[in-house]
Amino acid sequence: MDENMKETNRFITMLTNGWETDEHVQETTRDKIHKALHIIDPETFTMGDGTDLYALCREILQSKSFVLKHNYKCSQCDELIESEKQMYAWWYVNSNKRTQISRLLKNEWSNKVQNRMQCPSCHGQIIMTTQFNKKHPPLICISIGNENVQITASLSIKFFEASNSIKYRLCGIIYHGGFRFTARLIDKNTNTYYYDGMKTGPECILEGKFNTIENMYELDQRKASTLVIHYYNDSMTVGW
Ligand SMILES: [Zn+2]
Repeated sequence: MDENMKETNRFITMLTNGWETDEHVQETTRDKIHKALHIIDPETFTMGDGTDLYALCREILQSKSFVLKHNYKCSQCDELIESEKQMYAWWYVNSNKRTQISRLLKNEWSNKVQNRMQCPSCHGQIIMTTQFNKKHPPLICISIGNENVQITASLSIKFFEASNSIKYRLCGIIYHGGFRFTARLIDKNTNTYYYDGMKTGPECILEGKFNTIENMYELDQRKASTLVIHYYNDSMTVGW
């Protein structure tokens, strides 16, 4: 298991430890995390009722240090104007026309000239760059705003700063509807599995290759709400 993963926060540690040591990670680890969340915020994370997926993602995917920074720099004098820190490995993505998720993220994370900003020292052009934490966030969740966001199996993101390519791979899709969540899990070879704890227990059912599945946006009349993407490089063995 990727060591960066465990360092993200204690919930990720609980999940990864559970995955490595416990055969029934889905039930026992979920209960442990549920109790811990209830102690932090008993109103949001009640012991009886359902849980808000947004609130859950926010807690589970928060990071001790920044995950991503947008730096605004002057292209002429190099002055750093300001930076925005993102402390959650969790994004909301929306689109007004049909676009692949990889394209939307690339657009969001690639360098952009800021036409409305000017350097206060030299009136130079301001450029926004994206900087990821050196400990690449191993797991990022993306909330899908609408059906225009097309789900694709791989995401390759290039960073200007590091001058090397950082890749994320789609490893899960969470579907929501009728007060329940189900999921599809995608392995490194794009085998896609169906998971519904209530129907299939701890088993995942193989559906086929990712590109043979007709409607990635729906599963049992539930709609895709969140994508889980995982950092990887080719020399590294990813645990899931
Ligand atoms: Zn300047």
